[in-house]
Amino acid sequence: MSTLKAVRGTRDLLPPETALWNRIEATARSVFARYNFGEIRTPVFEDTTLFARGVGEETDIVSKEMYTWEDRARAQSEKTQSLTLRPENTAGVVRAYIEHGLGESGQLQKLYYLGPQFRRERPQKGRYRQFSQIGAEVIGPPSAGSESPLRDAEILEMLATLLDELGIQGWTLHLNSVGSAADRARYNQALRAALAPVVAQMCPDCQRRAETNPLRVLDCKVPADQPIIETLPMIADSLDEASQAHFAAVTAALDAAGVPYTRNHRLVRGLDYYTRTTFEFTHGGLGAQNALLGGGRYDGLSEMLGGPRAPGIGFAMGEDRLVLTLQAQEKQKSTPPKVVAYIAPVGENMNSANLALAGELRHQGLAVELGDGSFRLKKSFESADKTARNIVIFGEDELQSGKLTVKNFANGTQMSVPRAELADFLLNSDQFLEPEGGRSTPEAPLVVPPARIPQKPIHE
Ligand code: ATP
Ligand code: MG
Repeated sequence: MSTLKAVRGTRDLLPPETALWNRIEATARSVFARYNFGEIRTPVFEDTTLFARGVGEETDIVSKEMYTWEDRARAQSEKTQSLTLRPENTAGVVRAYIEHGLGESGQLQKLYYLGPQFRRERPQKGRYRQFSQIGAEVIGPPSAGSESPLRDAEILEMLATLLDELGIQGWTLHLNSVGSAADRARYNQALRAALAPVVAQMCPDCQRRAETNPLRVLDCKVPADQPIIETLPMIADSLDEASQAHFAAVTAALDAAGVPYTRNHRLVRGLDYYTRTTFEFTHGGLGAQNALLGGGRYDGLSEMLGGPRAPGIGFAMGEDRLVLTLQAQEKQKSTPPKVVAYIAPVGENMNSANLALAGELRHQGLAVELGDGSFRLKKSFESADKTARNIVIFGEDELQSGKLTVKNFANGTQMSVPRAELADFLLNSDQFLEPEGGRSTPEAPLVVPPARIPQKPIHE
């Protein structure tokens, strides 16, 4: 029988890598909370029409990357419905904004999400068919200030903070404006005119785009097309005064906040709903799939989905690519995190007493592993050395004396510690054993110690 495997483009995430995923998500939640964002969770599948209208029929996503199926009726009264696994989350968030009348409060809605997205793409490094995005949206009626360039600058400043707190080094912010719908219409006309005499020499995709959506030509990555694209007019020259002023206000606020960026005239982004500010953060370490995240303003999206006027701005980061970047930086795979102690029962009759001891330590906030009294001591030591920083031996002798034998693997000391002091002892033994350069375990600290008064090293 052939063995079953995860479907192409999907993958299992295993420990210790999942610890890094958790750390990224915890950092994102912490940053979002400080910027007063609340979490939204929308369904993983939606009516296909939402993406066709919200993302745009002409985009790569809708035209070739979606997982769509006809959901058959289960009763006479039901109709079949075309459903799609979400390829992105902005359309779902805006649908929810409309459905729940979130704009009626008159307040700006600041919403973030975390979760899987699905696109049928050619799998390669940094590109999967199920991948995870962390994103946020700021949306609301114009009276709440949703069109203000301050909102754009604040989101970009938040992203710089988040990437810095994650420890992503060397990111670049690419910034552009695609203008209002009217600006884009003007620009599309200018592009069509400029493309007419040269488009026959371009790739088949560009020939199709030149007809349907000339803006997309700027996204083309085919090397032979690049010299032609360089000669095309720039969207900056089609922006009206209001769009220019909006963009100038965004960059002025970024300058004031000390967020570095580069103007990228070709950044038009893959989705149809963008207006005015568009941006991407890239990282050199990622190779061809170098975009960590992308986003922009979508002032007309709510209306395109049948909702009220609700300008907004948002972004989506590829969590898989954050993980790749951090792994490359930290080489974290080579140092799997270890729990603070391995509890080794001596003799099977000591198993339940050891389970109780492990429970005691875990209730005090320590991460510990529990061995098995059927193991010989040598095997316990070998397992412990792989998973923990200390081994705690608990057999008949220790039960009699009320003191446990603790051996530390980093410095080889062996101590006899009263049971009541064990948790403190282990916490402190940790304090003096942090790897050089501080605590660099790739997950949140394994213990949440209460404020501790520095003590003199106990291994002296
Ligand atoms: P790309 O140019 O890399 O295809 P995109 O424009 O399709 O990106 P968006 O739709 O803007 O990407 O999604 C935002 C982010 O989500 C991207 O910057 C990337 O980090 C991540 N992302 C997009 N598609 C995938 C995928 N198939 N696998 C992993 N991450 C992805
Ligand atoms: Mg893509």
